[in-house]
This record gives sequence, C-alpha cells and structure tokens, in this order.
Amino acid sequence: MNTQPKLIIISAPSGCGKTTIVKRLLERNKNLIRSISYTTRKPREGEQGGRDYFFVSEKEFSDKKKQGFFLESASVFSCSYGTSRSFVMDHVSKGINVVLAIDVQGMKQLHQNCKEIPVVSIFIMPPSIEILRQRLESRMTETKQQIEDRLKIAKQEMAEKSLYDHVVVNQEVEQAVQEIEEIIK
Ligand code: 5GP
Repeated sequence: MNTQPKLIIISAPSGCGKTTIVKRLLERNKNLIRSISYTTRKPREGEQGGRDYFFVSEKEFSDKKKQGFFLESASVFSCSYGTSRSFVMDHVSKGINVVLAIDVQGMKQLHQNCKEIPVVSIFIMPPSIEILRQRLESRMTETKQQIEDRLKIAKQEMAEKSLYDHVVVNQEVEQAVQEIEEIIK
C-alpha cells in the first residue's frame, strides 16, 4: 500500500452491509483503523459504547461541536453524528490509514475541507432497492415506517453516488471487500 496515510470514506445506504464489509476489511488489513463516531442516537441491541459508537447526549454533542471537536458532523435520521478530529489526526500522523464509515454529508465536508490529507471516497451500492428492502426487513431493528424512511433516504443517497471517487456494488461481501482493497492499494 502507498505509504502516505489517507482517509478512506465508506458510505452506503442503511442496510447495505457496510458494517460487515468494514469489519472484514479491518480484520484483513492491519494498517487500517476505523474511526469510532460520536452519535446522539440510542444504541441498538448488541451495540456497545466505545466499540460501535460513542453514544452521547444532545448537550454533550453540541458542546463538542462548539469546541471544534469534530472533523465533520452531520444530522442523519434526526440524530447527530460526528468524527473526532483528534482521533483522525493522531493516527494519520503515525502513518495509519483511517476508515470513516460516514454519510454523504460527511464525505462532502471532508472532500472540501480536509486538504492536508488525501481522501478516497467509496460508495457501496445494494444490488437493487428490492434487495435492500429485504435486508432491512430481515434485520428487524426498524419499524415499518423507519424502513420506508430509510429507503427514501437510500434513494436520495444513491442519486449522489457520482460524487464519490469509486462505487462498489455489494453483490457478495468477499468480492466487495476485495474491490475496496484494490482501490486503497
Ligand atoms: P446508523 O445509525 O445506521 O449506524 O448510521 C446512520 C448513518 O449515519 C449511516 O449512513 C452512517 O454512515 C452515518 N454516520 C455514522 N457515523 C457518522 C459520522 O461520524 N459522520 C457522518 N457524517 N455520518 C455518520
């Protein structure tokens, strides 16, 4: 891999398998680390603070935002999400590539504002909207209304895929991970 550390942004509509892909990618590439985002969203079943996200209150989030703690932040599904500036900078300064699993708003902010570090953005697509609906329904973590909301947002996000440097279709996890490895090499 190139020795100059970079930020690898991975975005995908909710339910596209991004978490699994990122997990697999990190297991296989020890020179990558994932940034753990801060969010005001409540933990889902099985999620752990400090591993999946740092779960914080609205007040904690807005205080951090005012202090310039976040490299980027965005509001998604009425919750706030943000990336720790110091986490990213500390790792990049040690020569480690940082993977950011963030949304399209965060990608735009980093491409615009983060001029000092190379940024590679990758958008993961579902094979089809119908398959995405089935995946969301089968994980049973959202209500019917939430699934409809997420599909609506997914369509809006997919309409912006051309803003990314690369697009990968998650037909099958192994193949998607390999494609991402090729891109970041
Ligand atoms: P979820 O609540 O399903 O974990 O994530 C919802 C959306 O928020 C996903 O698109 C995810 O990539 C995005 N997201 C998670 N963390 C961050 C972050 O730190 N910044 C931004 N901009 N988006 C994030």
